[in-house]
Amino acid sequence: MKSCDFLIIGSGIAGLTAAYSLSDFGSVTVLSKGGLDENNSGLAQGGIAAVRSADDRFKKHIQDTLIAGAKHNRRKAVKFLVKEAPKAIELLQEVGVRFAETPHLEGGHSLPRVWHTGDRTGNSIIQALLKVVRKKKSVTLLAHHEAIELIVKNNRCCGAFIAPSLSLSRAESRGGEGAGGEFLSPFTLLATGGFGQLYGRTTNAAPATGDGLVLALKAGLKLKDLEFIQFHPTALNVHGKGNRYFLISEALRGFGAKVVNRRGEEFLFRVHPNGSLAPRDVVTRAIFFEEERGPVFLDLRHLDPRELRQEFPTISEALKRHRLDPAKHLIPITPVEHYSCGGVPTGLSGETELPGLYAIGEVACTGVQGANRLASNSLLEGVVFAQSAAKDIQKKIKNKKTRPPESALSHAEGKGGRGVCHPAIRASAVAYQKALQKIREIMWENVGIVRTKESLKEAEEEISQIQLKDDRIQGYKALCLEIIHACLARKKSLGAHFMS
Ligand SMILES: Cc1cc2nc3c(=O)[nH]c(=O)nc-3n(C[C@H](O)[C@H](O)[C@H](O)COP(=O)(O)OP(=O)(O)OC[C@H]3O[C@@H](n4cnc5c(N)ncnc54)[C@H](O)[C@@H]3O)c2cc1C
Repeated sequence: MKSCDFLIIGSGIAGLTAAYSLSDFGSVTVLSKGGLDENNSGLAQGGIAAVRSADDRFKKHIQDTLIAGAKHNRRKAVKFLVKEAPKAIELLQEVGVRFAETPHLEGGHSLPRVWHTGDRTGNSIIQALLKVVRKKKSVTLLAHHEAIELIVKNNRCCGAFIAPSLSLSRAESRGGEGAGGEFLSPFTLLATGGFGQLYGRTTNAAPATGDGLVLALKAGLKLKDLEFIQFHPTALNVHGKGNRYFLISEALRGFGAKVVNRRGEEFLFRVHPNGSLAPRDVVTRAIFFEEERGPVFLDLRHLDPRELRQEFPTISEALKRHRLDPAKHLIPITPVEHYSCGGVPTGLSGETELPGLYAIGEVACTGVQGANRLASNSLLEGVVFAQSAAKDIQKKIKNKKTRPPESALSHAEGKGGRGVCHPAIRASAVAYQKALQKIREIMWENVGIVRTKESLKEAEEEISQIQLKDDRIQGYKALCLEIIHACLARKKSLGAHFMS
């Protein structure tokens, strides 16, 4: 049995910001299922949205967020996010992130307000946060440690059961640095990110299998807005390994790249006055339908190649690897799964319905994203709500509202009546991969960009038939069924949820 004052599950932008913000108030342990920088945050290219220019206004950022979210957003949370955004940038600068002086424009924003470090913004942020938290004596960072179940006692979350995680990627299969077991803490923060890896095509990193949502479900919590899944319109359409697609940032369209069909037509103007810079769900669906007639491309040929390399070095390198010359070739693109707007419901402080449990970052449903996320609002959500959770916890410690938890092994109880954690049941790696692959195919084909009642019913039936005795697969299965049921319950299209 191990214990700490604050247990943080996830080492992306939300987890590391929380670790930094709590490090002066007690012992912090950060767990990561993969490597410490193997997460969606590190992959983010575009940047982080904030009102910091003289001609910009909070009102405009709020309005843009509400429009992208189809007004399904929680207004109070949106106002909070937008007003806290400049402070979030200050915190990142404090830890050493050096943002470029001029912000980028991205789709859905009424003016440039996306702060960046070229097209490696997420990586710059994660490396800077890791550097500062590594220096803090109070923080322990544990890579390749997977939370498999929350410990719930007397209707309070008291920590989590942990197992060493194996074989997510090559790096990870060399991992499994520590033994698992019970990890107790009066405050547990879920910062486990999204679930793109449950889809056949995604931009998401290997650990993004929705584990935080599965943990919350197992503990008896309800999830919210799961039907609102954002599909990014411009992933590079070249066949790579597995289900992961390389993202071509929206900022490139802000920079002048045009979406065209095989005849070179800017067909997006037929569906939206902003053309290539229309909101993501609009662009995604238009590309999806255009693909029925032929391939879709990004046209960069009119852009200055030198400026392009300077502003977008990561994208330029990726194109070069695939022998695509942006000055000569059209760049093949396609929409893929990218971001989950829903999750574990929380208030502005990040606390869930289960006392002692917080959810921050993409795993949470704070209501800021509504039915679809505005570009570059999610790194922001990670920082803002991690800070707000840390503040709430600090207040609770001051008021001494918590007692240190005792060992829970003998009497842990799920909120939903689940009993003591049993050792993790794991099938063979081959059987696990096969079942996961099946889930991905079903979700991509039937619960993707365009859904029908029939496709959802089919997905429900096929997912229910997956019987592999493996806790992870059973967890993903439960989550997928929740997503499918949320889609079925919302009969009319809204934001990223499109029923044909
Ligand atoms: C390619 C790409 C580009 C993007 N670009 C942008 C952008 O420009 N701007 C923007 O705002 N957003 C962008 N996004 C979205 C944004 O990056 C994510 O929403 C955000 O980074 C999520 O942060 P997070 O901290 O919640 O989760 P993540 O960064 O995904 O971190 C999750 C962490 O949880 C850990 N974890 C998961 N399960 C377990 C478990 N069972 N036990 C222990 N640890 C676990 C993982 O190992 C990981 O460390 C992009 C996303 C992608 C994929």
